Amino acid sequence: MPSVYIKTYGCQMNERDSEAVAAQLVAKGYTLAPSATVADVILLNTCSVRDLAEQKALRKMENLAAEIRRDRPGVVLGFMGCMAQSRGQELIDRLPDVDLVLGTQKFHRAADCLDEIIAGRRDKIVDVAEEPGSEATIREHLLYGNAAKNGGGAVGGHRPPPPVTAFVSIMQGCNQYCTFCIVPYTRGEERSRTIPDIVAECRQLAAQGVKEITLLGQIVTSYGKRFSQAELFGGASVSASRLVSSLAPPKQTPFVQLLDAVHEIDGLERIRFTAPHPKGYGDDLIEAYARLPKLVESAHLPVQSGSDRVLKLMHRGYTRERYLALIEKLRRARPEIGISTDIIVGFPGETEDDFEQTLSLAREVEFDQAYIFKYSQRRDTPAAGLPEQVPQKLREERNQRLLAVINEIAAGKYQKFVGRRTQILVEGPSRKNPARMTGRTRCNKIVVFDSVEREHRGRLMGVKITRASSFTLYGDPVILD
Ligand code: SF4
Repeated sequence: MPSVYIKTYGCQMNERDSEAVAAQLVAKGYTLAPSATVADVILLNTCSVRDLAEQKALRKMENLAAEIRRDRPGVVLGFMGCMAQSRGQELIDRLPDVDLVLGTQKFHRAADCLDEIIAGRRDKIVDVAEEPGSEATIREHLLYGNAAKNGGGAVGGHRPPPPVTAFVSIMQGCNQYCTFCIVPYTRGEERSRTIPDIVAECRQLAAQGVKEITLLGQIVTSYGKRFSQAELFGGASVSASRLVSSLAPPKQTPFVQLLDAVHEIDGLERIRFTAPHPKGYGDDLIEAYARLPKLVESAHLPVQSGSDRVLKLMHRGYTRERYLALIEKLRRARPEIGISTDIIVGFPGETEDDFEQTLSLAREVEFDQAYIFKYSQRRDTPAAGLPEQVPQKLREERNQRLLAVINEIAAGKYQKFVGRRTQILVEGPSRKNPARMTGRTRCNKIVVFDSVEREHRGRLMGVKITRASSFTLYGDPVILD
């Protein structure tokens, strides 16, 4: 059977989609190639959120076509994901060496399409149509990924342990239509999986040794909104759906009902989720932080701007005041909570005063981490047509100014951990130094400690933090009282 190499651009959702495609192909007998240079099939899973990500993927494919196809003309080349969805046939018109273009609702068709192309029954395939039910097809996991990458076999006769953490896709698409964002056009309308379907996947992962699950979606706070209560439970019998919903107090949003159901899974130690929308962060979700011990003290809350004027232009659906009130409520529910965010600088029409308000919001919230993006014009999005596009140089300058503030705040926050004892979930050996292990605190900070004790992997353990650098803590194992 052929070997496949998948290169992923973009977010955790894309990582998860690539993993599911790889697992589906392995189940069909494919092996996973360690690099593009030796693969029979090369797939690029693309991102459209910024122009830079698209240009990178296009350049990569141009190079693959020029270098790999020249020596091995039989290699199959394909684009998947967001750019494949938004550009479709245009990609093959531009790069005629490309054989396959698969949209965001077609990941599960990858194996069938590759069969057709490899068997010579079809020359090129472009499939970017909508497909009802596709949101429930991202479910396979590549638990033994490294062994699979090495050819699918066990290393030294021993099967490597499965990962400690896993991502589970709960929904696809977004209906918020923020004016800068291409996601609603590349991922389509919001579509959710049912609670029993998601719980079954999480339960299976927990049975295989996974301790921490991150529930994924473009806008998870909108999870299940279009379902009736019966549909949310997949048409399960009324008594079954009552049984699960009785776990949660009445009048919970579907997302909180899902959290309650996942929380019940034995063996699972921690639950995270991303990405929520501040608008959908209701009191029931804040109350869930106080009520569900497995829901860790960590929240990623994209704010995008500190200026009400810009938030309105972005169509975000909340104000600065409301965002700050939300942060206050979360910190009241869980004082130790780690809060991260996304911020866009240089949105069209952003004045110096607007930007100053973003700086002041960052100082007021004291984010633990912030991902800053220079505004990137995306075609067909309303913001792309707004007057007063901010010059590139000014976007860069604001990026640097905000970065300096964020880094200074984060450094202070990380330093405060020095001397403290905290609990981590040990994820495995450090990639940079195998004589060290890495874990994560409940508030989502990476901790590195000296150890070659592989049995620590997957365990909750105490560490005393001895020093901090930017965005990493270093510690020694301790017994927590
Ligand atoms: S909520 Fe997020 S995914 Fe949806 S349109 Fe806005 S930025 Fe894009």
